Amino acid sequence: MSIQTLIEQATIPPSGSVSSQPFDADSFNEAVMSTYARFPLALERGAGCRVWDTQGREYLDFVAGIATCTLGHAHPAMVEAVTRQIQKLHHVSNLYYIPEQGELAQWIIQHSCADRVFFCNSGAEANEAAIKLARKYAHTVLDIEKPIIITANASFHGRTLATITATGQPKYQKYFDPLVPGFHYVPYNDISAVEAAISELDEGDYRVAAILIEPLQGEGGVRPGDVAYFQKLRQICDETGILLIFDEVQVGMGRSGKLWGYEHLGVEPDIFTSAKGLGGGIPIGAMMSKKFCDVFQPGEHASTFGGNPFACGVALAVCQTLERENILQNVEARGEQLRNGLQAIAAKYPNYITDVRGWGLINGLELQADIQLTAADIVKVAIDEGVLLVPAGPKVVRFVPPLIVTKAEVDAALEAVEKAIATVTK
Ligand SMILES: *Cc1c(COP(=O)(O)O)cnc(C)c1O
Repeated sequence: MSIQTLIEQATIPPSGSVSSQPFDADSFNEAVMSTYARFPLALERGAGCRVWDTQGREYLDFVAGIATCTLGHAHPAMVEAVTRQIQKLHHVSNLYYIPEQGELAQWIIQHSCADRVFFCNSGAEANEAAIKLARKYAHTVLDIEKPIIITANASFHGRTLATITATGQPKYQKYFDPLVPGFHYVPYNDISAVEAAISELDEGDYRVAAILIEPLQGEGGVRPGDVAYFQKLRQICDETGILLIFDEVQVGMGRSGKLWGYEHLGVEPDIFTSAKGLGGGIPIGAMMSKKFCDVFQPGEHASTFGGNPFACGVALAVCQTLERENILQNVEARGEQLRNGLQAIAAKYPNYITDVRGWGLINGLELQADIQLTAADIVKVAIDEGVLLVPAGPKVVRFVPPLIVTKAEVDAALEAVEKAIATVTK
């Protein structure tokens, strides 16, 4: 079945189904903690790459739940898998074997360098699992009393205490100290900084046990990793026994045009994590290991919901659809179309736009540092033009549509973005 047919089959909202009451944001804000600065928009339904707000207005969704809705909204394969799993069995404990979990793990192993998988519910939890595994590996295999994990400046690894500590951005850590000990930050794509850190941190009981890094920094501004840098990291880790851990939470599961971000870099990690796109929007996280599969013993790490039949059955359907429909080909073609279009726009606004970059369908448009205009300004005006976008830091507008986005939808988004930029630069 073609992507187009799949989208046409997806549920289109019947006309007249729009809520009669306008959405009451004040009541919402009185009930829900203000952890987000929300755009004045309440979304109600979706189909393919389009979503509708409570007023019935249609938007092209180039956010996809932040790089999450791999197959867009109301995709028939997901509707089928969700319905089947909820009718059959949705949750049991990991005290028992869960066939769907085994099948999903096998799919991941067949389609990556992984030898073993641990399931949880989110990206932060997957990274927590990787941090715990690295620490146990350090104590039991490398014989390090006080293991240190190196991470990169401008990285993003999640919002739990350990993962905000791993995240090399002070704005996420402010007010939450004391932070978890044992992390050290280096500039991204700078090999001499890593080498210096490894030798400086080798003192007393302290030693570097792992490097946790994104193949492409997502939240930090859509910055792809350098091939030479990552190959050198691999070499250093091979020589020292330091674990190389890739955070593939945002870039993995096909978003980059390859199934895993590391395929762009010509190196394989020892451990990698996935979440966002893995369940196509159903909460699931995973940590994969190559070689170091038996570090955890029963009882040493766990998750009540992790790997339940519902999440795994749906994620498996997402994975199989990605493969069966050859969606990675679409990601490459649409990504190139999008970057070409954004570059053409950038060429018209050289005083405002400094760079267009990305892999597959994770792309960023960077604004000049020394002007007032922010990514959020563009995102706000783009909403009026009917396109949803998300900033990646103050100066980068991020484009992460569903991987099934069509040629016509990319063209429509480009047109709307150009109008938005014309408006904000007037
Ligand atoms: C989003 C993200 C996380 C955190 O995932 P959650 O599911 O929000 O916990 C971790 N790492 C990267 C690279 C991410 O983009």
